[in-house]
Amino acid sequence: MAESDSLATQTARASQPETKIVAHVTDTYLRDQLEKRRNALQAAISAIPPTDAPATAALAELLQEVNSAVQRMDQGTYGICDACHDTIEKDRLIADPLVRLCLDHLTSAEQRALERDLELASRVQRGLLPHPDARSGDWRIHYQYRPAGIVSGDYCDLIFPANGDGDVIFLLGDVSGKGVAASLLMTHLHAMFRTLSSVGLELGRLLEMANRLFCDSTIAGQFATLVCGRAGRAGEIEISSAGHLPALLISRQGVEEIGSTGLPLGMFSSSRYTVRKAYLEPGDSLLLFTDGVSEATASSGKEYGIRNLSLAAAQRRGLAPKEFVAASLEDVERYSSGTRQADDQTLMLIQRADSSSTSFND
Ligand SMILES: [Zn+2]
Repeated sequence: MAESDSLATQTARASQPETKIVAHVTDTYLRDQLEKRRNALQAAISAIPPTDAPATAALAELLQEVNSAVQRMDQGTYGICDACHDTIEKDRLIADPLVRLCLDHLTSAEQRALERDLELASRVQRGLLPHPDARSGDWRIHYQYRPAGIVSGDYCDLIFPANGDGDVIFLLGDVSGKGVAASLLMTHLHAMFRTLSSVGLELGRLLEMANRLFCDSTIAGQFATLVCGRAGRAGEIEISSAGHLPALLISRQGVEEIGSTGLPLGMFSSSRYTVRKAYLEPGDSLLLFTDGVSEATASSGKEYGIRNLSLAAAQRRGLAPKEFVAASLEDVERYSSGTRQADDQTLMLIQRADSSSTSFND
C-alpha cells in the first residue's frame, strides 16, 4: 500500500482481495457490459431531436469512449492504467468499465469524488441500521456496529413483523471482502430480508429464498455468512445459519454454541437451511457476533477466539444487554490493544428479560 494513500483510496482498495474468483468471469462480463452501453447510447442518440446538438455531442463523446474501450479489449490493452501501465482494480472496472486509471493515479478531482461517494455510502449504510436498543415483549436487544473503515461489510438488522404477535426477527451477517463492494452487498441483504420477512415465511424457507435471490443477483465469488433467527413471545427461539460463526446461548447451565446449519448465501442456489430451536429462560441471552470480534488479534498475532468470548459471556449472564455488549467489546479492545482494527466488528445480544429484576418503570 502506498504511503500517500488517503482513507478513501484505502477503503476502495480494501475491496480487492476477494475478487480473485471474479477474475475468470469478468472478461466476457465486461465486454457484455460495454456492448450494452454502446447499444443504449446509440438508441439514445437516435432519439435526440436534431436541433439539440449539445446533447448529441455529449452522448457521442461517451460512445467514442465505449468504442475505444472495446478496441483496447481487442488489442489486449484494456484494464491497463494510462499512467503507470499496471492493471486497474477489477471491481472498479466492473463498477465502471470506462475507468482508465488505477487507484494510485486518480486525479485530485477523482480523488475528491471518491471521498464524497464513500461519505455518502457511509451515511446510507448507517441509515439502514436498526435502533441499537430494542425491546419487544420480554425481549431486550442491544448491538454495537463498528466498521473498520468508512463503510462496513457487516450486516445487522431487527425486524418486527406487523402480524408477528411480539416476535422479533434478528439478523447478523458478514459479506465477503471489505470496502465499498462489501457495503453495497450489505445494503442488498438489508433490502432483501426486509422484503422477504413481510411475507411471513417459515425461517428455513426465508433463508432458502434469500439465498436464491442473492445467487441470482451477485457476481461469482461474492458470499455472505449470516445468522437469522426469530424470538417468540414465550421465550422460544428459532435459529438458522448460513455458514456463520456459532451463536452463543448463555443460560444458567453455561454457554452453548449453536452452530451453522447451511452454506453461506450466494454459493449454491439450491442450498437448504435447517432450523434449530432453543428455549430461553428469563435472564438467558443469545450472543451473535462477526469474525471481526472473534478474530481480533493481539500484537503477538494470536486471535482472541470464540473460547475467550464464550468464557467472558458465561460470567456476564444477567447483565443488561447494553452493559454486556460494551464489556465484551472492551475485552476485545484490551486484547488487541496496540493493533489496528483489521475487520468490521458487530456484536448483538438478545436477552429474555428477567422479570424478577425488571423494575416497574423499566
Ligand atoms: Zn496507475
